[in-house]
Amino acid sequence: MRHVNIPIFIPHLGCPNNCVFCDQRKISGCISFDESGVKAQIEEVLSTLAPEDEAEIAFFGGSFTGIDRDLMIRLLFISDEFVDGGKVKNVRCSTRPDYIDEEILDILSEHHVKTVEIGIQSMSDEVLSASKRGHTAERALEACRMVKDAGFDLIGQMMIGLPGSTLEFEIATAKAICNAGADGARVYPTVVFAETELADMTARGSYKPLDIEDAIDRTASVLDVFDRAGVPTIRVGLCSGENLSSPKSVVGGANHPALGELCMGELIYRRICAEADRVISTTDPKGKTMTVYVPLGATSRAVGQKKRNILRLNEKYCKKHAINRIKILEISSIIGYNIIIDLS
Ligand code: SF4
Repeated sequence: MRHVNIPIFIPHLGCPNNCVFCDQRKISGCISFDESGVKAQIEEVLSTLAPEDEAEIAFFGGSFTGIDRDLMIRLLFISDEFVDGGKVKNVRCSTRPDYIDEEILDILSEHHVKTVEIGIQSMSDEVLSASKRGHTAERALEACRMVKDAGFDLIGQMMIGLPGSTLEFEIATAKAICNAGADGARVYPTVVFAETELADMTARGSYKPLDIEDAIDRTASVLDVFDRAGVPTIRVGLCSGENLSSPKSVVGGANHPALGELCMGELIYRRICAEADRVISTTDPKGKTMTVYVPLGATSRAVGQKKRNILRLNEKYCKKHAINRIKILEISSIIGYNIIIDLS
């Protein structure tokens, strides 16, 4: 059985904020919202699913609970029809911390919403202010508490490389999301879109966009925090859409078609190195084979994009420690980014 999200993007509707990084119309890939097309959009995705697939309607793109209240409720009535008709299992939405209150949560719970995603972005007030988010870290924590207390699943969304941010702030943000009881996380390394304040800041030299290696490094550290806390990261990086591949739309930052794989591969590489170093410190590695056991489906991540990891492992262990060869094998008894090393 596959779990399939049916995303309904609602770009910037009702959002009076002006986060420096945001051009929601570009992220969501459309410049207007056609309410009359929502049903057809959902039906089109449903028509491609197998009977055993589990579908979920996802109101993404803007701040769902901040849009015009009547429109939000009309959209929830549309999703109700599909849930009540047994075609869709449940509904999720994404929003900002300051668009969460008891009344909103009551409405969501009356309409089959199971998961609320909150754009926390950073738990540093300094970073939030430099990014003109318009809310504090304390407000984000309060929103998380309210969402959990009301019985919803909580997904914490955070960004890497915002103005004024550092690796330390990002690790602290990930820890705070875990401590808030999040059921999952999304991590978005910052992309600089054209015609945003962040693009102007970049042009003025007051903001330095992340380069890809820096984005990989910092994101891997954050993934490590989530993995150790048992909080699954359900997405790394923006979804690739037309606007992300156009140099006219993106003027800098962490924009790479395989960014998620690169970040996840980096974390598994670090775990392999840490364990290999430990094993080598107690065993003479010369002429031996290093077998790295990884979770099912994790071989390509362990090998790395364009063999990036295996090349580095060969350099580090075969050349320097005279290990004969490195093998990667999948086993079902480990999960996440865990690995086991056998040297024999
Ligand atoms: S709150 Fe969301 S939609 Fe509004 S400006 Fe900020 S990122 Fe964009």
